[in-house]
Amino acid sequence: MSADQSTKTFVLKGVGVSPGIAIGRCYRFDPLGSQISFYKLKDESLVPKEVQRFRKALKESEEQLLDIQKNLRKAKITEPVYVIDVHILILKDKMFSNRTVKYIRDQGINAEWALRMTLDHYKQIFEGVQDDYISSRISDVQYVVQRILRNLTGEKHEIVWEVGNNGVIVVSHDISPADTAQMKLDKILGFATDSGGRTSHTAIVARSLELPAVVGLDDITHYVRTDDEVIVDGTAGMVVINPYPDMLKRYEEKKRHYDVANDEYLKFGKLPAVTLDNYEVQIGCNIEFIEEIPSAIAHGAESIGLYRTEFLYIYREDLPTEEDHFNNYRQVVTNPNLSSSTIRTFDLGGDKFANYQKQSKELNPQMGMRAIRFCLKEVEIFKTQLRAIWRVSALGKTKILFPMISSVEEIREAKKILEEARQELIEEGVNNIPEKIDIGIMMEVPSAVVIADKLAQEVDFFSIGTNDLIQYSLAIDRANERLTYMYEPLHPAVLRLIQNVVEAAHQAGIEVAMCGEMAGDPLCILILLGMKLDELSMNHLAIPRIKKIIRETTMEEAETVLNKALSFSTAPEVRSYVQDYMVNRFPEEFIAEED
Ligand code: PEP
Ligand code: MG
Repeated sequence: MSADQSTKTFVLKGVGVSPGIAIGRCYRFDPLGSQISFYKLKDESLVPKEVQRFRKALKESEEQLLDIQKNLRKAKITEPVYVIDVHILILKDKMFSNRTVKYIRDQGINAEWALRMTLDHYKQIFEGVQDDYISSRISDVQYVVQRILRNLTGEKHEIVWEVGNNGVIVVSHDISPADTAQMKLDKILGFATDSGGRTSHTAIVARSLELPAVVGLDDITHYVRTDDEVIVDGTAGMVVINPYPDMLKRYEEKKRHYDVANDEYLKFGKLPAVTLDNYEVQIGCNIEFIEEIPSAIAHGAESIGLYRTEFLYIYREDLPTEEDHFNNYRQVVTNPNLSSSTIRTFDLGGDKFANYQKQSKELNPQMGMRAIRFCLKEVEIFKTQLRAIWRVSALGKTKILFPMISSVEEIREAKKILEEARQELIEEGVNNIPEKIDIGIMMEVPSAVVIADKLAQEVDFFSIGTNDLIQYSLAIDRANERLTYMYEPLHPAVLRLIQNVVEAAHQAGIEVAMCGEMAGDPLCILILLGMKLDELSMNHLAIPRIKKIIRETTMEEAETVLNKALSFSTAPEVRSYVQDYMVNRFPEEFIAEED
């Protein structure tokens, strides 16, 4: 950037993964650094010394990571510990170290250079992988390389945070869990990163710290320098660099508004979600890690409406044992502040893969061997999880939820295996295994919606997964950034599918929940209320606002809005009607978005 570009204003759009507004000075965090030396070794006799220098840096890196893990465990922060396990595995990987040593030997170059070549080699391989989730795992190799480089260059000190008293907005290409573990978190106001998505490390850390964050900005690191003024709008998914004075004023106002509203909302979190005419909706929370439970309860969750258990399988080399499952689920179902916990059996494949999973290359993994299909093929892996769920169900109110069901045969097969797992436990003399557990299915495949009346005869409840239901019914890959403009929960077809599910469930006398992102979207809440969903399960931050709107409306109003919305033929008509209605009716809840 030239001198006059340094104060140029840039507005960048990314993915808002943690809501709220942060305004402050940028701290440009560049772990790979630019001052790494690259040179040829003077003569061959220096090669063994260089290899030894590299091996020493490997050892030091491992010791540091083990130390960080120890501290994290002491602080009872468990999630990054597993990720650091993966980093230690990479450090110890023979292919990784041998390749670097080979570059040093064959090309007579210094260890830093050789390491960068190894990283480039891995980058090439990962870039060739079609699957977004897998290709994004190159970040783990990068974290490891950063650490070895720091040790090679003698930069032994950990990340320095001389940032004064005002705090900073951390801007980086990506941030590793080990890096965040060493940051002075109380000095951070928000995050903005080039890479990442909803489940990236930065996103998870930001949400749990309740700091605004925008990720997936592509190239913010090209535009911003340390000390630039930055605005992070985690609600709108926008970042402004060097805002105009007017813009800054507007955002300061917006931030004040948001902060006050947020404090106000938290009060609503504690109250039941009951309309003015006494219709009560159960409000659940979606979680991926048990560490999220305290935050869920603090925001007003009454139950865990969706526990995505696949994260127990990710970030590890081997499969979780029955005891791993049991110890984990026990901490969910025995929580005295939760009325029930819905454990979804693992939904691997699609956009989430475990390390051990030998994936056959699938052209379309979203429609491939994932979720229940995988479980019905790998019965032993499935049973390990089912046995643990049976055992915890004796300890607290537990419901089981099967993902991606598309036919009656599949649910019958899943129930058969569930019952086999119960019989086996009883035969082995395990005590207290209940007779029955509430069985539900995700309604997220269009074929299931069409035969909802038949499926309702097989189960105790439905849970509508709009994230996938929208993807499959509108034929839009939910992970494809180029199609986000078509991804529309308010599409008339989607509304009819949801209504079909609710009606079939109620006719059969079973309950129906929604756990897709739509359930926590305040724009959609009157429509969902009008349809008479029994439970809405969402991310914890959405709960207070949703409860507030529910408490200020009546079923009569909700039904009127629903009927009007259903009368339109096109998605833009529905959206524009609902948007106008909600913004006028609940102006406090819909602070106008910055243009
Ligand atoms: C869904 O599909 O709506 C859902 C809740 O599940 P996931 O996002 O894990 O696929
Ligand atoms: Mg799904």
